[in-house]
Amino acid sequence: MMTDSNLMPVLFLGHGSPMNAIEDNEFSRGWAAISHSLPDPKAILCISAHWETRGTQVTAMEIPRTIHDFGGFPPQLYEVQYPAPGSPELAKETVATITAAEVVLDQQWGLDHGCWSVIRHMYPNADIPVIQMSLDHYRSPLQHYELAKELSVFRKKGVLIIGSGNMVHNLGMVAWDRMNEPEFGYDWALEAGSIMKKYILSDDHRQLINYREQGEAFRMAVPTPEHYLPLLYALALKGKNDTISFLNDKAVMGSLTMTSIVIGKY
Ligand code: ZN
Repeated sequence: MMTDSNLMPVLFLGHGSPMNAIEDNEFSRGWAAISHSLPDPKAILCISAHWETRGTQVTAMEIPRTIHDFGGFPPQLYEVQYPAPGSPELAKETVATITAAEVVLDQQWGLDHGCWSVIRHMYPNADIPVIQMSLDHYRSPLQHYELAKELSVFRKKGVLIIGSGNMVHNLGMVAWDRMNEPEFGYDWALEAGSIMKKYILSDDHRQLINYREQGEAFRMAVPTPEHYLPLLYALALKGKNDTISFLNDKAVMGSLTMTSIVIGKY
């Protein structure tokens, strides 16, 4: 019989600045540390803040390209390649598994930085197949959550599901003049981050799904949904006996939190 201890944990990773992809810092070391404690995944299914589409898509190519979907960074960041194979089989299985939406196989995308900037620290050999699933821009938060629940079957099959975004993410409010101040967060960012963690620990997912009704701090913390929704994907997969562990639980640049979550034993 399959018990919860056989289930692959689920991750939500706060990815922050693309520079974390090439920096050896406390956040990138935090991601690497998780991977050392997990069973070796058979494949990775990543839901990144940086792939929004009409309808839900999954990457289905044999060899996904590394997408440098950002501007104004040093050349060495554009030189990074993450040559993990894709998994057309897992993509097809995802299409067959999800009933809440008609999932479409994609041959154009690849791996965006929401995905590779964190995964390259976890699996530097790039030898584990990776597919991405897009965020349908037209689904409600509850519809995203319900769709995500259907991915739970993959946990039993050794697939590591990663939601990659940021719980608190307001680029318009970044404190550029206080960039080097460690752990600096505006009051509203810290408040929203701490309320989110409280709801996560008490399994009060309904409050998190209804994030638009949580008042001013949440309104500032989640001005657009794309970095927040990967959190709902991860939480939707939490089973009754799964534990919650936080890491990288810090604010940066005033208006972002790097808070990441391991759901399940690790
Ligand atoms: Zn991002």
